[in-house]
Amino acid sequence: MVIGNYFVYLLLLAVSGCLCQHKNQIRIGVFFNADQKNITYWDAIKELLPETVELVTSPNEIEIVPENDAFSTQKQFCNFIQKTKNERLMAVIGPKSLTASTMIESICEHLAVPYISTSPKPPSVKETPYSISLYPEFRMLSKALAKIVESFDWTSFIILYEDEEGLLKLQDVMKLTHKNKEAKNEHKFFKLIIGGDNRQALKMVRNSNINWIILDCHVDRIASYFEEARNVDLLSDLSRSFFLTSLDAHTMDYTQFIKELNITTIRLFNPAHPVFNRVASRYFDSPKISLNNITVEQALVLDAMLLIGETVNQLKAQNKYLSPRRISCHSNSRYQDSLSIIQEMQEVQLNEVLTGSKLSFASGSRDEFTLQVIELNSKDSPIAIWNSEDPDNIELTRNETEREAEFKRRIAEHNFIVSSRILEPYLMEDPNPDAYKNAKYYGYCMDLMTEISKIANLSFEFRITKDNSPANVVNDLVERRADLGIMDFTITPQRREVIDFSLSFMKLGIGILHQKPIPEESNNKYAFMRPISWTVWFYIWTLSLINSITMFFVARMAPAEWENPKPWDPESKELENIWTVKNFLWLCLGSITAQGCDILPKSVPARVIGGSWWFFALIIISSYTANLAAFLTYEKQDVVIDSVEELAAQSKIKYGLMSKGSTEQFFSSSNDSLYGRLWNNMKNEKPSVFETDNPSGVERVKVTKKGLYAFFMESTGIEYELGKSCNLRKIGGLLDSKSYGIGMPLNAPYRNMINHAILTLQESGKLQQIKNKWWKEMVRGEPCPEDPKQSASLALSNVGGIFDVLGIGIGIAYAIAVIEFLWNVRQLSIEEHLSYMETLKCEIKFACNIFQKKKRAKPVPSESSSSKSSLSDQHEKISIARSIFSKSASLLNLSTHDEHRPDASQVRQRSRSKVSNNHLRVS
Ligand code: GLU
Repeated sequence: MVIGNYFVYLLLLAVSGCLCQHKNQIRIGVFFNADQKNITYWDAIKELLPETVELVTSPNEIEIVPENDAFSTQKQFCNFIQKTKNERLMAVIGPKSLTASTMIESICEHLAVPYISTSPKPPSVKETPYSISLYPEFRMLSKALAKIVESFDWTSFIILYEDEEGLLKLQDVMKLTHKNKEAKNEHKFFKLIIGGDNRQALKMVRNSNINWIILDCHVDRIASYFEEARNVDLLSDLSRSFFLTSLDAHTMDYTQFIKELNITTIRLFNPAHPVFNRVASRYFDSPKISLNNITVEQALVLDAMLLIGETVNQLKAQNKYLSPRRISCHSNSRYQDSLSIIQEMQEVQLNEVLTGSKLSFASGSRDEFTLQVIELNSKDSPIAIWNSEDPDNIELTRNETEREAEFKRRIAEHNFIVSSRILEPYLMEDPNPDAYKNAKYYGYCMDLMTEISKIANLSFEFRITKDNSPANVVNDLVERRADLGIMDFTITPQRREVIDFSLSFMKLGIGILHQKPIPEESNNKYAFMRPISWTVWFYIWTLSLINSITMFFVARMAPAEWENPKPWDPESKELENIWTVKNFLWLCLGSITAQGCDILPKSVPARVIGGSWWFFALIIISSYTANLAAFLTYEKQDVVIDSVEELAAQSKIKYGLMSKGSTEQFFSSSNDSLYGRLWNNMKNEKPSVFETDNPSGVERVKVTKKGLYAFFMESTGIEYELGKSCNLRKIGGLLDSKSYGIGMPLNAPYRNMINHAILTLQESGKLQQIKNKWWKEMVRGEPCPEDPKQSASLALSNVGGIFDVLGIGIGIAYAIAVIEFLWNVRQLSIEEHLSYMETLKCEIKFACNIFQKKKRAKPVPSESSSSKSSLSDQHEKISIARSIFSKSASLLNLSTHDEHRPDASQVRQRSRSKVSNNHLRVS
């Protein structure tokens, strides 16, 4: 820094030398603030000075004035003027603080002394005819900043500023409107308290959706603001970009902050430019001063020296000499500046200065300058250049590939925080207590993120959100606690307003999860009775009895039912009616079992009743047959629902959903009347039908008896649960259609990169592979038994009751047969005057002789077996002779009786009624 002091000294020496042939002594007043005293270039300037000029200002004579004390500054400056009263005062270089600079400038104006300023000058400060400012003109700078911000393509931004002067500098930036009219064009402002606690304001910045921040502050305070920003987690957010408007921001060491942070700033010179290099290497001791870190003051002071030196040379070339000023603050006398040095300075053409290739002043301010836009992590080359000669344009120096490479570098530096929640099969926790960080989790989301990280070359860390709720994953992204949100993350319009989503990685819709109807209990062998309810069974049998009795009376009244019992005897005086209640019961039973009956009524009224009964039987049989299969295999649920409409139409089965999720959002915001009704029902249900998460809902569906609870759930979850449990089913179709995406903060710069990774995974089939892995291969459910509905064979357990019915029928038949037999024995014993036991023995003996086909009308208890056999032989012979006789008569078509022979049915009828007596009487 001593080198710098010498530079000024020698330069002043040079300046004084060129004004007179005999070592003209000139003086330059250098007024700096305390922190500027290191800006010195005494040695390096030697070569500029003509030999005839002697600079009387020594390095020790730099005046240090206080920053904000105008009175002391004035006093100090006037002392200086007094002290140098008889010297040739060439110019005064002013300090950077506005208060001190304004004070000195106004005195210089009064004394007609050229004043050179190297610090910013707000537009409110009046220009004086004796001053020159090397700092870029305020309005031009504002224009430049606006153009630069516009080139960033920021739709909205936050301005953090320290004072109104800063805001004035950004007035053109504030007027910016984004070319995309659709985009949200929002500007927010937060004032920073110098030396105070700004964490509250920075927290608000962190919670805001705006990613782009313009920080306007003095370079010395950037680090402390960044420190505070780091404390409130503002710096860990990869989506944020900072733009520092300080022209010295490049001099700071940001290594502790910026690894992955995007910080852009502006610089008044380009160290890579050949002119800068030439000038800087001539006047700076470059190993000591890093050319990259030269402050704008250093550069401008050097340029001021160059300007003074060049002015001196020009004056010398014109043989103009500076005379002693003899001025004082306390007199009204003004120095008569016949040379008009200030004008000479303004007209000087300097083509090689540090801060650009040209120095030019219109109305005392520097209006020609160039701004280099640089990113702090690659300061060497600017990313854009703005030039005051073409203020409405900006030259972007980086191509797309370079921009992408830089972005990838930042991505690689960043550790992505992925907010998620525990839910099978998306993300599960390893119970092993030693598992650490990502090793603690596994599942679909972990696999998906791992694949994305391979494609995008990024590192990540899963964090489980508070309460394991989807709403908190959204909050994590809104409040920038996470860079990505991965789970069963449904893309909804409400969420898209506060966060961004990647392309979808899974499609789904809302479905209804319900219990499968429970198969018939294995021991219900009377299931075949189920198609018809017990009441209907009762009515059928009662009706058949009533019907039989009715038909009996009708038949008794109908003349057509009364017939001659001896059809071969037309003279017969008797008529017989075969229709007893018993026969009608037989007829009813025959028709309702679809078997028919041999005897049928002949009269019209009986046939009308019979026809009606057959129609009744037809419907009953058809309904029974149609329902039989289903009732043999399934136990009937109280209410069976097959669609959301059916669910809404009943009140027995309750239905619910997971609260605070997108499914709830769907119902609560739906305009559809059906879904609105479902939502109202769910809200008013007591006890609550809502569950905190999907597994609880699935469990409730499983344990609720008789399937009295159904759960609205996303189809992906339903698919997974159906793979695990055989007792569940999905009711109907999907209520809507949506998809899952990866969530990220609004306008996250890595969104395209994530989209690209998802597309790549989709195209390569990897996405489907991961899904299959977690939905099929890793599912640990038992294979489900074949659907009983499709099973071809009926088990005995389902139809065992039919055998019981048959068995009971046989039992009753035997009982009746025994009673009839005993009754008949009693009748015979009375008729034949035999003892009951004797008759019984005789009849049992006969019944047991299964080869005996014919029987005597009366039992003969004393007959020997031989006589019995000869008697039976005799009977047999007679019977054979009769049969031969009747057969030959029928062949010859002869009537064995009379013309009025009974028809076949009547004969059969009669023989039957005889058989029913269990006796074949041989006459
Ligand atoms: N996927 C849902 C969400 O993102 C959670 C589950 C649900 O609401 O059914 O909120």
